[in-house]
Amino acid sequence: MGPPGAGKGTQAKDLSARLGVPHISSGDIFRGEMAVGTELGEQLKKFVNAGQLVPDDLTTRIVVKRLGQADCSKGFLLDGFPRTLEQARSLDAEMLQDGGKIDTVLYLDVTPDLIAQRMAGRRMCKKCGASYHTVTLKPKTEGACDRCGGELYHRDDDRPETVKDRLRVYAEKTAPLIGYYDQQGLLRRVAADGTPAEVQARTFPLLGL
Ligand code: AMP
Repeated sequence: MGPPGAGKGTQAKDLSARLGVPHISSGDIFRGEMAVGTELGEQLKKFVNAGQLVPDDLTTRIVVKRLGQADCSKGFLLDGFPRTLEQARSLDAEMLQDGGKIDTVLYLDVTPDLIAQRMAGRRMCKKCGASYHTVTLKPKTEGACDRCGGELYHRDDDRPETVKDRLRVYAEKTAPLIGYYDQQGLLRRVAADGTPAEVQARTFPLLGL
């Protein structure tokens, strides 16, 4: 977990590969639905493009369904879910039912100034969701993804006006999860300033990697 722009997606991609478990990003799932233009996608757009959270029941239903697929049977890395106390409690209940538990919660900690800078320059691949930055993490060919050649775009919800709303929502709804997981002894804080490689070098040892 961490505020928008903390680098959750970037870190999660390498970490899930290293752990050999799927990377489950609620944001990626939602963007996939929105890109295809399904009825669900149209419903999600209203919330996502306004920087608002998708309602808890809808979000939890979609993510829990994804966790039920075979590739998640030996574990998974969640990115961007849960984002509210209600989602966290629903996840706990679901996992308990399946005899599972959360091992660790990584909290990527960054300052608001750095968030604004990262999100203004963030570019994302339309095809595979990889993240780039116009200054700090440029692709080899401008406008194209290094991994899959997909087109890079600036997310509508990364525009400065929307980022402000997302940060407000984060402070109000998601930040309380820090205490929730800390009390359970699951939280590990990572200073998330610096390059992706630097953050990764701080993260892996916390998981014994
Ligand atoms: P992300 O890619 O994680 O920044 O998510 C992009 C957007 O998708 C968020 O700003 C929300 O509008 C929506 N979203 C993603 N995950 C959740 C969640 N767990 N609960 C509610 N909305 C979510």
